Amino acid sequence: MAFRIAQALQTIAKMAFAGALGASLVAGDVDAQQKQPSPGSAKALFGSVALPTQGGAQPFGFYAKGCMTGAVALPTDGETWQAMRLSRNRRWGNPAMIALLERLSADAAQYDGWPGLLVGDIAQPRGGPMFNGHASHQIGLDADVWLTPMPSNHMSAQEREALPFTTMLQKGAFLTINPDVWSQSHARLLMRAASYPQVERIFVNPAIKKKMCDTWTGDRTNLGKLRPEYGHDSHFHIRMKCPPGAAACKSQAPVAAGDGCDKSLAWWFTKAPWAPPKPPKPGTPPVKPREVMVSDLPNACAAVLAAPSVSSVRAATYGGPSAAEALTVAPAAEPAAAPGDALPAIGPVPDDKPSGE
Ligand SMILES: [Zn+2]
Repeated sequence: MAFRIAQALQTIAKMAFAGALGASLVAGDVDAQQKQPSPGSAKALFGSVALPTQGGAQPFGFYAKGCMTGAVALPTDGETWQAMRLSRNRRWGNPAMIALLERLSADAAQYDGWPGLLVGDIAQPRGGPMFNGHASHQIGLDADVWLTPMPSNHMSAQEREALPFTTMLQKGAFLTINPDVWSQSHARLLMRAASYPQVERIFVNPAIKKKMCDTWTGDRTNLGKLRPEYGHDSHFHIRMKCPPGAAACKSQAPVAAGDGCDKSLAWWFTKAPWAPPKPPKPGTPPVKPREVMVSDLPNACAAVLAAPSVSSVRAATYGGPSAAEALTVAPAAEPAAAPGDALPAIGPVPDDKPSGE
């Protein structure tokens, strides 16, 4: 496994130095390459629960190590959004997250020239680690939104499985925005998302952050919330603060003051983030990564897994059964959870990364 990781990182580094670092740098979790989680692992257990718990919404733990109760589903459709990849069953979140997505979709349509959101993964019904695609998204306070505007047609479930991702990066160039796909509406959408006080940070590709630094002429107060990360060239990732009263939710250190258009951004344009890892000292036994178990998560998560379910998806859809029914499309019959289908998640993070994500 360690060897495979090293190989993957070397491949990524080669791609970068060849100047071919593109869009398709799926720097995702190497675990995403695993076909199936081991039976009994936290990924297997949380991934097999179809419905959220009854009762109030509570996040337990941290974005990348936790679970949740009382999740609600984003309706598959609204006037200004469509949920994507329905077979993955990851449109669950803290009610505050779902409310924020609906609000952002409406505001962006009204003010920013962005016709509607295509919403990707939020979380599993009870949160927890996912077997592919993400390190975080575990407590219902992270959501991925496509950088593709919502089409005017109402997509079928199959179309939502099949629509390809569109990268904002120029093919064959190093961390460069493609002017043929990037627009001022993309910039306005990102700044709209960053404008809400409950939004803690937003992950974007370093090339997108640089573009924003170079071109955003409006109020830059919230520009610092846009955080450069691996991947994130065809979607952005919204992370909310722990909601008020969520005592078991572990906060992330706040972003540094300022617009972030500084050396923490410049670092991404050096070789350091793309360098292959140092080879282990000869004779060092390889470290075998261990799968996350429920016992590695906050204590509450075992009880969260065992707690009674709500009666149906419909009963737990945000806005009530009428929202669940309005325009709803049924999930695609064939689950399309092929590992390669995941949106690029936060990738391997070198030790010397300065920005503290
Ligand atoms: Zn994400």
